[in-house]
Amino acid sequence: MQGRMQDWPLTVDRILDHAKAWHGGIEVVSRSVEGPIVRTTYAQIHDRAKRLSNALKALGVGKGDRVATLAWNTGRHVEAWYGIMGIGAVCHTLNPRLFPEQLCYIINHAEDKVLFTDLTFLPILLANRANMPTVKHFVVMTDREGMKGVDFPGALCFEDLVEQNSADCAWGGFEETLPAGLCYTSGTTGNPKGVLYTHRSNFLHTLVTMGRDVMGLSATDVVLPVVPMFHANAWGIAFSAPAVGAKLVMPGQKLDGASVHELLETEGVTFSAAVPTVWQMLLNHLRETKGKLTTLKRVVIGGSAVPEAIVRGFRDEFGVSVTHAWGMTETSPLGTLANPTRAIAMMSDEEQLRFTLKQGRPPVSVELKLVNDAGERLPHDGTTFGRLMVRGPFVVGEYFKGDGGEILDEEGYFDTGDVATIDEFGFMQITDRAKDVIKSGGEWISSIEIENIAMGHPKAALCAVIGAAHPKWDERPVLLVKLKEGQAATKEEFLQHLEGKIARWWTPDDVVFVDDIPLGATGKIDKKLIRQRMEGYVLPTARQAATA
Ligand code: AMP
Repeated sequence: MQGRMQDWPLTVDRILDHAKAWHGGIEVVSRSVEGPIVRTTYAQIHDRAKRLSNALKALGVGKGDRVATLAWNTGRHVEAWYGIMGIGAVCHTLNPRLFPEQLCYIINHAEDKVLFTDLTFLPILLANRANMPTVKHFVVMTDREGMKGVDFPGALCFEDLVEQNSADCAWGGFEETLPAGLCYTSGTTGNPKGVLYTHRSNFLHTLVTMGRDVMGLSATDVVLPVVPMFHANAWGIAFSAPAVGAKLVMPGQKLDGASVHELLETEGVTFSAAVPTVWQMLLNHLRETKGKLTTLKRVVIGGSAVPEAIVRGFRDEFGVSVTHAWGMTETSPLGTLANPTRAIAMMSDEEQLRFTLKQGRPPVSVELKLVNDAGERLPHDGTTFGRLMVRGPFVVGEYFKGDGGEILDEEGYFDTGDVATIDEFGFMQITDRAKDVIKSGGEWISSIEIENIAMGHPKAALCAVIGAAHPKWDERPVLLVKLKEGQAATKEEFLQHLEGKIARWWTPDDVVFVDDIPLGATGKIDKKLIRQRMEGYVLPTARQAATA
């Protein structure tokens, strides 16, 4: 027997239809790539996205075809997303921070037919045009004025396509299991792999993230996603903001502290989301300029672990509450958030902070387990480390084109590659990426935990901890510190700062001051590159042990 409710495919075009019907006048404000602030509304975005759909159809794009975007967060990018997805084509977001060879690799792997680009990226595309043979059309996301300086044979003008096509276009009408989006992982090992989201997975992710214990957006909010649409779908905000009718503020390419602060204040932003490095830049800017945050109430921080100093800075200096989140491209991306339970909410502020610094608990439909290397379940006791496994309807089942083969265990769980603990409150804490965890004397040391405490040192701009070879202990931690401009410090100052805050045997064997701590394409500390740079480095304690 079948149920008797309406069979309504969960396709994402319905989200923008809803925003147009019920929140049509709500603004979408962008710092345009050309410079000026541009104002539009959900109704206009809907109309213009439909025109783009017709333009894409005229260019020969149909269901399942991949259309790439190489673009900052702007209203035009939102229009491109819905214009592509609404007709069943697949929106492939490209991360401009990737090296050109990686970009070409994923464009070819995805067989992108059309590529939307901001003016910013024309030089990269022009230099590599010959290496992306599948792309038949390039659309430059600007108007005729912006096209004047463009010297790119055959490039189409975004605003021309909008103007020349009608808004009469039927969206949806296909199965919810059709692909809607494609995003490649950053590929820290081997080639990047594609995660092919379905309409259903994006729709469910949107519904789940709207919950109060998740992102908790509302029609009363003004939302500024600093997290880029090209990395893990801007944590779903280009879906969840129109779904609830929140005003959307898009920062374009200017993500420095001063530019973000200006938009937060002038547009009355109440909610924002970004990786820790962005927030660190904002806090530094606010302190230097004695700036205020008069409307911002909540920020979600994820992508890498949140240092305590950032949470305290927001909470104590600016009255902004922080929600720590964990996720990955493979989980659409939100997997856990550290919003308190009732028991935690009753604790003192200091006790609650312990939980805010963890990555949090899964919302309904995300299932987690910890396992050892043999795949056996480990206890949720807050201290046992294990591989973090995840499953659910918006978690990857298989990479695009089957890359990487079978990626789920017998119970359907995906191995995140993260090592974590889960405590008795259900709060998960990432200890490390499995390949970054430091193995010392058969025990594991969390590089992330030491980094975060070291980051609380007032002279530290950025810290990273890696394992270095040791003849007796296998590996020992080394702390790399980039100091704030004009600062000088000694190793002892940093070691003293760590004292009492970590187990004694976790204390780094050495502190190395460096000019630069490299960040990868997704804003995370690039430990692979650091390890390459540190090749040939020998721990002073290793030297002593060798000569003893
Ligand atoms: P990506 O797919 O590029 O977003 O990378 C996902 C990875 O980023 C995860 O597997 C984690 O290793 C890391 N990550 C994301 N959020 C956090 C967080 N809040 N704390 C620590 N690591 C995180």
